[in-house]
Amino acid sequence: MKSLTVIGAGISGLTCAIYAQRSGFRTVILEKAGGPGGVSTSWKRKGYTFEGGIHWLIGSRPGLPLHDVWTETGALGAGNPVFYKDPVYTLIDGDTVLELPRSLKKMQKTLGAFSPEDKVALAVLRFHVWCFTFFHTPILDKGGLKVRHPRRFSLPEFLKMGPALLLTPYLMSISAGRYIKRFRNPHVRRLLEAVVDPRINALSLIYTLSTFDSGDSGYPEGGSLRMSQNMADTFTSLGGRILYRTPALGVRKTADGVCVLTESGTIKSDAVVISSDARTAIDKLFEEPVQTRWAKRLRRKMHTAQCMFIALGVRTDLSDCPRCMKIVLRRPLEAGGLSFDSITVNNYAREKEYAPEGCTTLTCILSGSTYYYWKAEREKGLYKQRKQEVIAEFISRIEEELPQTRGLVEATDLATPLTWERYCDTFEGSYMSDWMPWHFSANAPIRFLPGIFFTGQRTAFSGGLPVAAHSGWRTAQILCKDFGEEFIRK
Ligand SMILES: Cc1cc2nc3c(=O)[nH]c(=O)nc-3n(C[C@H](O)[C@H](O)[C@H](O)COP(=O)(O)OP(=O)(O)OC[C@H]3O[C@@H](n4cnc5c(N)ncnc54)[C@H](O)[C@@H]3O)c2cc1C
Repeated sequence: MKSLTVIGAGISGLTCAIYAQRSGFRTVILEKAGGPGGVSTSWKRKGYTFEGGIHWLIGSRPGLPLHDVWTETGALGAGNPVFYKDPVYTLIDGDTVLELPRSLKKMQKTLGAFSPEDKVALAVLRFHVWCFTFFHTPILDKGGLKVRHPRRFSLPEFLKMGPALLLTPYLMSISAGRYIKRFRNPHVRRLLEAVVDPRINALSLIYTLSTFDSGDSGYPEGGSLRMSQNMADTFTSLGGRILYRTPALGVRKTADGVCVLTESGTIKSDAVVISSDARTAIDKLFEEPVQTRWAKRLRRKMHTAQCMFIALGVRTDLSDCPRCMKIVLRRPLEAGGLSFDSITVNNYAREKEYAPEGCTTLTCILSGSTYYYWKAEREKGLYKQRKQEVIAEFISRIEEELPQTRGLVEATDLATPLTWERYCDTFEGSYMSDWMPWHFSANAPIRFLPGIFFTGQRTAFSGGLPVAAHSGWRTAQILCKDFGEEFIRK
């Protein structure tokens, strides 16, 4: 039996480890943190659950290949049915309230009635989104690999994706923000800006809207914690081992395998899969920083997707407020050296067990690159103070916009890029790479050296959880092929 060490129990590492273990590798995962999930995680403060991972999960829709990966790895199952919020966003700007319905048809109707001057732009948007409703992440078996339960990708399936593929170069060439500018009504523009970071390419916007319409992106009950714990349970039930609080300190190729250095000794195996951030790994895990062409390109060309995550526990029931509010602020919020004139607030009042009875958890993601701001503040010894200032500013904006919360905030937290760097060792504290207009992501290869593989966010285009799962699955296939093993899906 071949042995495998996987570095990292994030979604990509778990996916790879599950398929490898099932396909006959004796697999051990080394995880730096105390639990599974990596950056896809939630945590508790004073009885409130702060969902710091999944907001929507692409692959939620049964019948699609990515959904198969989620069920084969145990990520989705009977214990966590998927919930679909509708409307997906609600814009609140003073007295103006405007909803973004999940269905494309309803979206065109609602926004068209609100903003007749945008009828043409809406028709174009609807057409673009419609093209993508037949698109899904193709998960193809590697050529020449022996696969139990092979996947079939039929010609009609491919042809249906044709319109989306034809549209892709155009959508990749402009930013979501520029795409949205064609709408005349400022409220419609603001609402659409809630869907994805306006700096990234328009493909992300259109594809995300299409997954809302097709039902391919929902929220699994129990969120990121239950999902990653399900995956860890699947892995251990297959006989795999996870060593938590065991950071890998180095990787070394030997004549007959690979050694991974840990604080308590060396683990020797036939192969190693590095699922921790490849951008960090090339500088930290090898004796010398990796200097291959792809590594230099990765250093030069990668855009990190960074955010700050703010969560509040409020001693009041906000179930009469929308689930996801894009609030236009009366006064901008200054945070991490950036200024925000609107915030997107997730309201978990309707989620059972996310807060004590009669109370509510609110969370907000503020996108933007703030790693170097926070690093500088930490060097000046001001990190904690600045965090408290941001939290106080944020509470004051929430109290202004939702006066029923005044004086009732009893739990708070703020994660900055330094938080993700500390817990998950991600490069510049990022959670994936940003997919900018005209930008073809610089990636690490999956097979680096014989027996040494990468998986995860930096081995593919940008895309969060689906990319993590897809790359984990693909790495397991390449591993099986290299070692002459049959790939067993289920
Ligand atoms: C606030 C937030 C919201 C998000 N919302 C969504 C969403 O709604 N939908 C979506 O699709 N995506 C979302 N994402 C993105 C998504 O969660 C990530 O892109 C994805 O989980 C990355 O998975 P990964 O396995 O590639 O990497 P990681 O999660 O970074 O996994 C790597 C693992 O390796 C471990 N590790 C690192 N170094 C070492 C070492 N030396 N030794 C041992 N272990 C090590 C880390 O602790 C980690 O567990 C969100 C991310 C954030 C931060």
